[in-house]
Amino acid sequence: MQLSVVIPVYNEAENVAALHQELSGVLEGMGVSYEVVYVDDGSTDGTFDLLGEIAASDPAVVVVGLRRNFGQTAALSAGFDHAQGEVVVTMDGDLQNDPADIPTLVAKLDEGYDIAAGWRHDRQDAWLSRKLPSMLANGLISLTTKVKLHDYGCTLKAFRKEVVDNIKLYGEMHRFIPAIASWMGVKIAEVKVNHRPRRAGQSKYGISRTPRVLLDLLTVKFLLSYATRPIQIFGKWGLLCGMTGVGLGLYYTIEKLFFGIPLAGKPGLILAVLLILVGVQLISLGLLGELQVRTYYETQCKPTYRVRTILDRRGPG
Ligand code: UDP
Ligand code: MG
Repeated sequence: MQLSVVIPVYNEAENVAALHQELSGVLEGMGVSYEVVYVDDGSTDGTFDLLGEIAASDPAVVVVGLRRNFGQTAALSAGFDHAQGEVVVTMDGDLQNDPADIPTLVAKLDEGYDIAAGWRHDRQDAWLSRKLPSMLANGLISLTTKVKLHDYGCTLKAFRKEVVDNIKLYGEMHRFIPAIASWMGVKIAEVKVNHRPRRAGQSKYGISRTPRVLLDLLTVKFLLSYATRPIQIFGKWGLLCGMTGVGLGLYYTIEKLFFGIPLAGKPGLILAVLLILVGVQLISLGLLGELQVRTYYETQCKPTYRVRTILDRRGPG
């Protein structure tokens, strides 16, 4: 199997038939062996039955029906787990992404990239509720992660199989797949893609997505920088706080002991105590984190690195 297209759908009854027809046309034209994995994310509008009909008439279709609505990220994960292609393409099930862009994305991977990310350079969504938050989020994500893209939120992306096999997604993290994957060392290309207004069905998101994306960004940033060495970040701030507190405390102690200046009426004293406490707590948190890291990696025999190639000419034995 060369190509898997993974599409999470949630209440897209009005879109799936048109989507499948358009998508099949493009995929047939590519001349590769392919499958389309539809993940029904607990739809309540009959989407699953429609997908069943599509699967009955097209052997290239796999339908994964989730038991309830788990969210787009979890649905994508389910799709990844069931995809068998060498290349995995993700897209939305509402026809906002254009299947005609798939060959361009796949061609990028053939050039040697591991991820080809779509960039909706002419995005067809509401300005205030969608484009503005997205602009801010994109700026912030590219500032905080080392992966520079114009449009993290575009679901239309192509991945090599080993990329999706090596990442686990939680929360709302599908937009961070390139950033998460950057940990294992990937080459990422960006491709301008077409974007269309939603013609049928409802968008599942509104402005409330913004704080969730911010919190996920915090998690991703932490995992990318400190997942294997939490003491480095907690310890740094812990030391800084603790030493400032100790310094301040010493200063007041010396004042009191040697110069007889009373401690009463010195708010800095409370600050010193607070800083010492916070410092001790931060360092303890870092140490607990170090224990967690060991449990996480060693119980699952997870390597803390990823190998690209091994050149070993000694031969077997
Ligand atoms: N989706 C999903 N589960 C959800 C929400 C959305 O599988 O809980 C799917 C939805 O059916 C669509 C894609 O994720 O195929 C993107 O959703 P939507 O078009 O509502 O997002 P937008 O394009 O408005 O950002
Ligand atoms: Mg959409």
